[in-house]
Amino acid sequence: MAEAQQPRSEPREIVELRRLKSDQPDLASAADLQIELLQLQRRVQSRVQLPSIKLDPDYLAGLLRSGAILKFDHLKIDWSDVRFLIRAVAAAMRTHEALDPADLQKVEAITRDPERLPRVVRLWYESTGPAASSTPPEIEGLETVLLQAMRPFLTRAADAILARLETQSWTQGSCPVCGGEPDLAVITPAADRLLICGRCLARWRFDQITCPFCRNPDRSRITSFASRDGQYRLSACDVCERYLKAYDARHATRPVMPPVDSVATLPLDAAAMQRGYK
Ligand SMILES: [Zn+2]
Ligand SMILES: [Zn+2]
Repeated sequence: MAEAQQPRSEPREIVELRRLKSDQPDLASAADLQIELLQLQRRVQSRVQLPSIKLDPDYLAGLLRSGAILKFDHLKIDWSDVRFLIRAVAAAMRTHEALDPADLQKVEAITRDPERLPRVVRLWYESTGPAASSTPPEIEGLETVLLQAMRPFLTRAADAILARLETQSWTQGSCPVCGGEPDLAVITPAADRLLICGRCLARWRFDQITCPFCRNPDRSRITSFASRDGQYRLSACDVCERYLKAYDARHATRPVMPPVDSVATLPLDAAAMQRGYK
């Protein structure tokens, strides 16, 4: 939890991304895109406001007993910042061929319409949260754009909440702050597994074996393998066929850095998908 309170060290993340790029030239385009996204997020980060939720430990602990804490209406959003970020993220992704031309047009239509924009962002937040359902057609293909554009708002809210909340009682596979799914995990020097939310980057402790997506606890139905350098582990569930990557911090020279580790593990994603996991 202490780590969540520290200011985010983007310059260090950018340094690591540049290092990754020179070590693994195949990842250069993905690393460059990630650097651009971090730089865009930094431009608005300093002026993002605290969420409109009472930041009192007892109050937050009470809310946590009935589920993930952060509702869309708690976010104090400057829509001109969101519009700027959505457009800039989409343009950067398009440059790196990480977004289809048709989806770029969808982004343009949404950001041009001042009434539609908040509706689409709310729809994204609510459909990828605790009651996650199938993706509404309106946001299909735009999930990454919206995620990256909303990241400064969600991490600001998560940091503020986690600074005043103990999450030990939370045993769910989804995020205690926003209800999102984990996108990465970190294995701590004490061999605990902390899951990291794919939306707000909150971390919470979770059983080491159990699949966070379907809660399958059967070790014989979890396939696990490590990256060649031993820095990352992947656990794939043979029940729901989903997988989660973990950064093994036990012998690491730096802390986990989700924007860096998501790029560094692209070869692991490819290996998992080759084996039929998603
Ligand atoms: Zn979250
Ligand atoms: Zn599963």
